[in-house]
Amino acid sequence: MTAAKEYIEHIYQKVEQRGAHQVEFLQAVREMFDTIEPAIAKNPQFIKWNILEQLIEPERIITFRVPWVADDGTIQVNKGFRVQFNSALGPYKGGLRFHPTVNESILKFLGFEQMFKNSLTGLPIGGGKGGADFDPKGKSDEEVMRFCQSFMTELQKYIGPLEDIPAGDIGVSGREIGYMYGQYKRLNGAQSGVLTGKPVSMNGSLARTEATGYGLVYYTEEMLKANGQSFKGQKVIVSGSGNVAIYAIEKVHEYGGTVIACSDSNGYIYDESGIDIDLLKQLKEVERKRLTDYAERKEDSSYYEGSVWDFDVDYSIALPCATQNEIDGEKASRMVKNGVYCVSEGANMPSNLDAIHVYLDNKIFYGPAKAANAGGVATSALEMAQNAQHGHWTFERVDQELQVIMKNIFKTVEETASEYDLAGNYLAGVNIASFLNVANAMIFQGI
Ligand code: GLU
Repeated sequence: MTAAKEYIEHIYQKVEQRGAHQVEFLQAVREMFDTIEPAIAKNPQFIKWNILEQLIEPERIITFRVPWVADDGTIQVNKGFRVQFNSALGPYKGGLRFHPTVNESILKFLGFEQMFKNSLTGLPIGGGKGGADFDPKGKSDEEVMRFCQSFMTELQKYIGPLEDIPAGDIGVSGREIGYMYGQYKRLNGAQSGVLTGKPVSMNGSLARTEATGYGLVYYTEEMLKANGQSFKGQKVIVSGSGNVAIYAIEKVHEYGGTVIACSDSNGYIYDESGIDIDLLKQLKEVERKRLTDYAERKEDSSYYEGSVWDFDVDYSIALPCATQNEIDGEKASRMVKNGVYCVSEGANMPSNLDAIHVYLDNKIFYGPAKAANAGGVATSALEMAQNAQHGHWTFERVDQELQVIMKNIFKTVEETASEYDLAGNYLAGVNIASFLNVANAMIFQGI
């Protein structure tokens, strides 16, 4: 075993000893550690600085009680978190997730991914993540508002436009950000730069809503182009039907591809002629309905229960935009059998380690989440820039900057892979490039 490999395994064992039950976090660390050996071997100072042990420990984890009053008068209590993972490159930046599955392991994996992803944008942002085990589904607007106010009453002590800038993630969109910002303002005065993903009328950025989905398609198109392909004329499946999925579908259609299926947590719709984006937006963004209603309103479309990745149909590009670990080895093999040659991730860690092995073994063009979905947080950083200037940029300007950022990320990934004699291994390119960004910034600053 090389010294680099020995060092990596030694630190991995420590992560395991410290939290064997934190399976999602361990998975994210394992995936990173499996690819960075060449970077450690080439830069022995990383071992001297014990950089991996520093990297895997968040700078700070804040947990707090979130009590709120339900419509029926009962008092509910949720658990709130903020993981301030790494500030080597700038203030902590990353979303808040409201979902019943939220726990420390999930937020540590998300924070770990976020610090690397943010470094790829080239913008001055560190990594963080937070949220609560609160389920906004089925709650009234008033309940969501009271929850958000209570959550922010505690969180506001730890954030600020120059310290830590949360945004949305699963279960947190413009509505929740609006309620949280209102509460922050009541307690601290107007400082719009403390949250991103704000509604445009409240100093939010144009194109932020679209950014993760659009950015995913910009990145993927770059990767396809580098391999003599494009979205044009291709059949695509997108999982999810939230913000990331909706705008990925919209952009794929603009690029001449056809999205034939998308999903929610219960099932999926198949619409051979292409998902009707206006109907999907109406159902999900306006009426907050489930996908079963899509099939009821649109002729020639059908709804099926289960995972969209178990659907046997010919298609060539898969864009997982739902949640972590939605694709395992079996589902990945089924995709390959169905004709998929490109998988690019809008969700964070949607592919488990077995699935990733299937992609690598089959030479799939693979866009790992840290790169492919970085457009959301990059545009958040553009929102911070606008807030700091007390200004507003046009939709076209933000979209243009987003395109440049996504193209640059792909270029960095490609160049890094080549530099390490791993041309075409985009996973290694993403992980090594982002690892070098964060590790070098930490070393510059001393311990
Ligand atoms: N939640 C998004 C992500 O996973 C965006 C975070 C942000 O805009 O700060 O990158």
